[in-house]
Amino acid sequence: MRVSKLLNKTLKEAPAEAEIPSHSLLIRSGMIRKLSGGIYSYLPLGWRVLQKISNIIREEMNNSGCQELMMPIIQPAELWKESGRWYVYGDELIRFKDRHNRDYCLSPTHEEVITTIVKKETSSYKELPLNLYQIQNKYRDERRPRFGLMRSREFLMKDGYSFDKDNEGLDNSYNDMYSAYSRIFDRCGLSYRAVDADSGAIGGSSSHEFMVLANSGEALIVYCDDCEYASNIESATHKAVTYKMGELQSIEKVATPNVKTIEEVATFLDVKKENLIKTLIYKATYKDNEQLICVLVRGHRDVNEIKLLNQLGALDIALADDEAVKKATGVEPGFLGPINLVNLPLYIDEEVLSVEDGVTGANEKDFHIIHVNGKRDMGQGTVGDYHLISEDDTCPVCGGKIHFARGTEVGQVFKLGTKYSEALDCTYLDENGKAQLMVMGCYGIGVSRTMAASVEQNHDEYGIIWPVAIAPYQVILVPVNMKDDTVVAFAEDLYATLKEKQIDVILDDTTERAGVKFANADLIGYPIRVTIGKKALYESTVDLKVRATGEVMSLGLEEAIGTIESLLKL
Ligand code: ATP
Ligand code: MG
Repeated sequence: MRVSKLLNKTLKEAPAEAEIPSHSLLIRSGMIRKLSGGIYSYLPLGWRVLQKISNIIREEMNNSGCQELMMPIIQPAELWKESGRWYVYGDELIRFKDRHNRDYCLSPTHEEVITTIVKKETSSYKELPLNLYQIQNKYRDERRPRFGLMRSREFLMKDGYSFDKDNEGLDNSYNDMYSAYSRIFDRCGLSYRAVDADSGAIGGSSSHEFMVLANSGEALIVYCDDCEYASNIESATHKAVTYKMGELQSIEKVATPNVKTIEEVATFLDVKKENLIKTLIYKATYKDNEQLICVLVRGHRDVNEIKLLNQLGALDIALADDEAVKKATGVEPGFLGPINLVNLPLYIDEEVLSVEDGVTGANEKDFHIIHVNGKRDMGQGTVGDYHLISEDDTCPVCGGKIHFARGTEVGQVFKLGTKYSEALDCTYLDENGKAQLMVMGCYGIGVSRTMAASVEQNHDEYGIIWPVAIAPYQVILVPVNMKDDTVVAFAEDLYATLKEKQIDVILDDTTERAGVKFANADLIGYPIRVTIGKKALYESTVDLKVRATGEVMSLGLEEAIGTIESLLKL
């Protein structure tokens, strides 16, 4: 390729909305352009990067025995009603009607379609296991599209689905995908960590997310210093804390005028925050109705809303506003407590049971109750793990010190089990001719997000530093003066030689000043730059610069070609 022919305009400035380096650099280097909020075009250089990532994914999938196919983006509502997700997917699902007033959606994921295909195209245990994937645009009307390709509304995803006879088969498929994902992200030059994840609304029993550590990441990850434990905070647990036993005393109502918050109560009554019992009212939204529920956690804890949501099986939960709380309980928020609270479904965090001598609101303005005992006084409720862990907790596996870090999820593997095969009646005949449900897994990679994540990890103040495997071109040749015929001839010769050797090379044959060419090459992030200047004529040497290290080598022609080949590991 020649830069003079390339559709590529670099920009000095990024748009104001570009808050993170990958967003800004992908736009400035002319790889992507915004069409509308969260909707981007991939221009030729950006598309080459995406193709290279896609090809790495294809190679690893095909080597793991998976088959590529392509399914429709437009999907009929009936199918989504059959699985039940038409009603629960919410506003993220982009819905529309055709000219006959029939409902459709743009696919955010393909469990429904693939399950229907496999159901119709297979019948016997002999045809299993099957692992099918595609690389295709997905559509999600995200609440907050942002950070360029990181969270967009149209994005490129590889989605794969495995079908097995039983759980043992699923374990094998899952493990194969887990290792393939590790190889893919290694090859894309990402530093990542696979963490335990919540299997959430999509259903299923086990899941890992592949997280790229980045300050701009929207996910919070917990990891242990001393062992392999790593988890999304949403699903993280910790080693049980043993609290000091107090003496069992009778409860007592005490005046706490205008003392409402956890901090205020702790100070006023001179008790530790962990001995307070926080009483929170949430509004849970279900398919057909809404319900207020009450959650109890120890005073120093926050509610893990994902765990609570999963326990409730609700579509969404949010803290109820003060008005709703007052209306439902007759109590001013700040003085709520589980003792003699109006009849709301009660969810008790398991740690609350170990409060020996605690404090709660008295369900009466300006009063609290002291000497509350978690086991004795909480009443009937569903006990479970509903609290978020904190950095003061210790590792659930080894008891070691844990830390929090921010991460971006680039891929996820799920064990779905029979959720979709049951809903859509996807069965096979076993050895005895008996119908059995297929056991499924699903496996996603955000291809466009992986591209952004790679830039997030590989850049400097001058621009992108592409890993060789996914660079739009691996080598750029920069003749410094296009008016000098001998320089041009030299560059053209080298260009032809490298192309003959199947090296992915681009020649900057524009008449820009050398400084501009260098700045563009750095911004776009080609791994190797070869400068052809006067020295090429007098000494027959060129300057080879490695983008990642900044190292510059003055090399003879043959030597330069050899160095390029070894740097690219050809
Ligand atoms: P997130 O929690 O970040 O919203 P998700 O759990 O909804 O992601 P999955 O359904 O697991 O995502 O989709 C598979 C992959 O697709 C994710 O691992 C991620 O890399 C990518 N992805 C998901 N949503 C987006 C988006 N809005 N923009 C770009 N990539 C996305
Ligand atoms: Mg996910």
